[in-house]
Amino acid sequence: MIVATGLSKRYGSRTAVDGISFEVPRGQIVGFLGPNGAGKSTTLKMVAGFLPPTEGTVTIDGLDAQEDSLAARAKLGYMPETVPVYPELRVEEFLSFRAEIKGVRATGSKRKKAVERAMELTKITDRARWLVGELSKGLKQRVALADAIVADPPVLVLDEPTASLDPNQIIDVRELIRSLGGEHTIVLSTHILPEVEATCSRVIILSKGRVAAQGTMDEIRARLSSDARGTSFVFRGEIQAFRDVVARVEGVSIKDVTTAEEPVRRASLAVDDSDGDAAERVERLVSECVAAKLGVREVTLAAKSLEDVFRELTTKDRASDESDEETKEDER
Ligand code: ATP
Repeated sequence: MIVATGLSKRYGSRTAVDGISFEVPRGQIVGFLGPNGAGKSTTLKMVAGFLPPTEGTVTIDGLDAQEDSLAARAKLGYMPETVPVYPELRVEEFLSFRAEIKGVRATGSKRKKAVERAMELTKITDRARWLVGELSKGLKQRVALADAIVADPPVLVLDEPTASLDPNQIIDVRELIRSLGGEHTIVLSTHILPEVEATCSRVIILSKGRVAAQGTMDEIRARLSSDARGTSFVFRGEIQAFRDVVARVEGVSIKDVTTAEEPVRRASLAVDDSDGDAAERVERLVSECVAAKLGVREVTLAAKSLEDVFRELTTKDRASDESDEETKEDER
């Protein structure tokens, strides 16, 4: 549904987006994740047809976002990072005006229904008669989201959709985004790590304008989990017997073992995952324990958190950014 090929954006000598390519199949929710300045907003602006790329192309359902800009834009709802709402209009007037611009005809009660649906989905119906300028930042953001969905476009491009919301509103908006997936193709940006895990089927991690990784969270974790994975292991039996068992299982080592409540012990293990087979090694360990008559009570193989993945992929760039900044400071 969305195909970006070799997309670059340069602002003078600064390269904000550097030759990225990605595809978003119909009905998927894809999250752009990255630290400040990674190029998320710039990418979404180009996808939405609001910013011409310096190089590369974007197509929306086969329509070129630049060459066929109007037709491509008619297929998408865009919620920008800075919310452009008209303070002097009432919420429902604003949404009706936006629906009209987007071609929702005023025949019968179609436009009214479209506005009511958008307000219901974003939970702002009780503010329909409020002036937009009187709303809090979080409510303005929900009006902007209502604006993006009012014409029920097949594609939604949402730049930090939960940025100014309180925790309850964040949950509501995430649920709304999830419920819109399937029918709609959605790209969103965020630097809130749990957000992508909660809403997105795929993630594209941007760092310094480039794609540092993309895929499902499991794929990205698997690609990065080349080192040992922490495992907590609770068993009943003698510590020495457990040490003997561990010595027989290749790729598993004991970091620490303590007595939880005699004769139950808690061990912290490092399990090699360089070939992605950590789970098999743990299975082997459990079988060996059973054979040695050690009672296995609990096994937890730690998954790499999105936070680990994110840090691993972006901290190197951040360190070099910081040294760039220092150089700039020195030059000044
Ligand atoms: P954030 O999470 O802080 O919004 P982002 O990942 O969305 O960051 P962008 O806003 O796309 O990043 O910015 C990418 C880079 O391009 C940054 O270095 C930024 O300073 C630069 N940039 C963005 N817009 C402009 C502009 N209009 N003129 C010059 N530089 C710009």
